[in-house]
Order: sequence, then C-alpha cells, then structure tokens
Amino acid sequence: MEYRELQFAQLKKIAESTGRNPVYLFNADRFIRNFTDLQNEFRKIYPNTRIAYSYKTNFIPEIGKLVDNLGGYAEVVSSMEYEIAGEAVLCDSERIIYNGLLPEECMLANLELGGKVNVESMECLNYVLENTSGEVKTGIRIGAPDSRFGFQESELFDVLARIVAAKKKVAGIHCHVGGSRSLETWKKKTQRMLRIAKDIENILRYPLEYIDLGGHLYGRMDDDLRKQFGEDVPTFQDYAETVATMVRDAYKDRGSMPQLILEPGTALVADTVDILATVQNVKNRKEKKVATLNVSSYDCGMVADYKDLTVENITDPDQKGNVPTVICGYTCMEEDYISRNYPGALKTGDNVLIRNCGAYSASMKGDFIFPPIGMLMVNDNYEVLGLMKEHGRSRDAVERCVVGGKRCVI
Ligand SMILES: *Cc1c(COP(=O)(O)O)cnc(C)c1O
Repeated sequence: MEYRELQFAQLKKIAESTGRNPVYLFNADRFIRNFTDLQNEFRKIYPNTRIAYSYKTNFIPEIGKLVDNLGGYAEVVSSMEYEIAGEAVLCDSERIIYNGLLPEECMLANLELGGKVNVESMECLNYVLENTSGEVKTGIRIGAPDSRFGFQESELFDVLARIVAAKKKVAGIHCHVGGSRSLETWKKKTQRMLRIAKDIENILRYPLEYIDLGGHLYGRMDDDLRKQFGEDVPTFQDYAETVATMVRDAYKDRGSMPQLILEPGTALVADTVDILATVQNVKNRKEKKVATLNVSSYDCGMVADYKDLTVENITDPDQKGNVPTVICGYTCMEEDYISRNYPGALKTGDNVLIRNCGAYSASMKGDFIFPPIGMLMVNDNYEVLGLMKEHGRSRDAVERCVVGGKRCVI
C-alpha cells in the first residue's frame, strides 16, 4: 500500500471506533518539528533564543507538556492558564511568562519564583511594585502605536521612574502585535523594540535580560490554504533571517546577549491538529451542493471565519465533483462554513479530514449547541499514541448551573 493509503486506513480505523468520531487528531511528530525547526532557525543566527508557547492558542495540557519537555516556555495571559501551566503541566515558574491584562496574584507569585511578568498598564505596574518584596525584576509591555495594549513610548519615562523609585528593576521588554504576520511587520516591530531597548538601557545603566517579540507568526500550512492569504507567507527561515539577524547585529558589541523570546501559538500548533468527521447529509442547491458535518466551524478555529479549510475525503479520495460543495457545520447558523468551495465529491456517511484546526479552536469552542470534541495524539502515520481529552458531555454544559435552587444534573 502507498503511504497515503496506509494513513487513510488508520484514519478509517479511528473513525469506526466507538466514541471517536468526530475527534481532534493532534500530530505530535509535526508539533515537535515545528518547535525544533523554528527554534533551530533562530538559534543558528542568534543562539540565545527562547520559544514560549502561547497557551491561549490551544491550552490542552498535553501540548504544554510537550513544549516543556522540549525545553520551551509557557506564555500565559490569565490565572487560569497560569494554573494549567503550573499545576497540570508542572511547568517550573522560571519557564512561565505571564502577559495578562488584569492585576492577579499569580503575577506576584511568578515574579517571586523567578518567572517573567510583562506589565501592560499603570494599574498592573503599581500592583507589582506595591505587592512584591525584594529586588523584583519586572518586564514592560510596549504597545504598537495604535494598539490598546501596553505602554506608549511617551509613557515610558514615567514607568521607569516609578520602577526606580520603588527600588525594583526592569528585566526586559515585550511587544505582541496582532494584525499582519508579514515579514515587514516583524521587521518594523524588531527595529522599534531594539531602539527602545537601547534607550531604556541608556537610562537605567544596566543591560536588559530579554527582548520578547511576542507571537503572530505564520505557521506551515497546505498550499490550498496558503494561496488564500494573498501575500508571501514567510517560512521559519525567512523570519529568522530577518529578525534574528537584526537582534544579533544590535548586540554584537555588547558583552552579553539578551534572551530573544518568541511567543508563537499559531505557528506551532495550527497545522498539527486535524479533525476527523463524518458527512451527515448532502443537499442540492443552485449550482452547488451543501454538505453538513458532525462538527462545526467553531471546532475548526478562527481561521474558518475567513478562509476555506482544506478537507480530504478519506472514504472516497480523489473524487471530483461536477459542482462545488459548501461544507458546513452542525450549528443552526446559516454561515457555519468550513469550506465554501470544496472541489471534490461527498456523500452521506463519508469520513473527512479537516486540516489546520489547531489554533483558537479547542480553546474557544465552548458548549455552543454540542459539547466540544475530544482529542487523540497521533504520529505522522495516524497511529494513536494516546488520549489527550475526552469528548465533552451534555452535563458539562450545565454542571455549574443552578435551577430552582438545586445544582443541575443531566
Ligand atoms: C495571542 C498571543 C500570542 C500568540 O499569538 P499567535 O498569533 O497565536 O501566534 C503571543 N503572545 C501574546 C501576548 C498573545 O496575546
């Protein structure tokens, strides 16, 4: 059998096992490659690079564990994620970066235990300065000029003055820019951060320990998805050659190399999760067909809102349709699109594989209409390595609810 046929045979086996359809399939091999390739590309140019995995992108603990085993950091934005990293994954505090917006006790704990905290408002800064003892070193988040996050450059002098007056120190600076993932955006962000780092070092007269450039890199993806982005999608090597080179050049005359931290979520996890699902019905409409699956676009992640995901028919591969098929989810929303333009043919009962469902999917779905689906860990051959999450139950949706004064039980 050909390799692809072997993979499809494995997938059919999973699809036919009880309680395992629909299901997320997390490809651990692929995740490890993403992590090590990205890290290697940067370290080739700038050895003191660290990868911090963004938990909000997909906080299933087994993924955090994999990152921890690979020597990566955990990037968390709330006390909930902090607890997942610290207590479910057993991540050492020194490897946790907290970037939340609210003043939370875990910021203090993380700082005192040697972790990193990047404050992004005067309120959070004051909270840290007033509630920590000893020579704590905080990080400062710098906002892009039009962003609601972090401090504007005009506020930095005041921020530094407060930190000095409180007899604390600055550990490093942080910036995470949403919107474009292009090389040009990364170049501008890096340039600006390196300039600000230099200004801060000149004022404080000691070196910063880290420059954290945040996340929002493109990940790897199949060609059909890549084409839809309409710009050159940089590779890990492209990002490294631009960003790591700039950082290396900026610090070549300084005695010590600050840590360059990246906080990818999407770039590490997006293409590592497929959904295995089944076609429930196919309807004929004017010049198209409409197929409904036993998952929804909400299970597939934010990318499904504006792009067509690549779908493969496992049962009947390589069938061409005579009209395009719109592949939809089970919700009662008209625009629950998974692919608006599937070129193949589907029939009721076919098993399909939906690609690129790793980012902002399991972490955002919730209990809308059906419970969230479970997750299995697989390798490149789609051999099952273990269970990562059970399928949700109806009772989970109302477990914390009270009706008529009594706890709900289904
Ligand atoms: C969301 C987020 C990330 C990860 O973003 P991706 O686009 O998934 O790579 C990294 N850092 C911070 C501070 C974030 O808020």
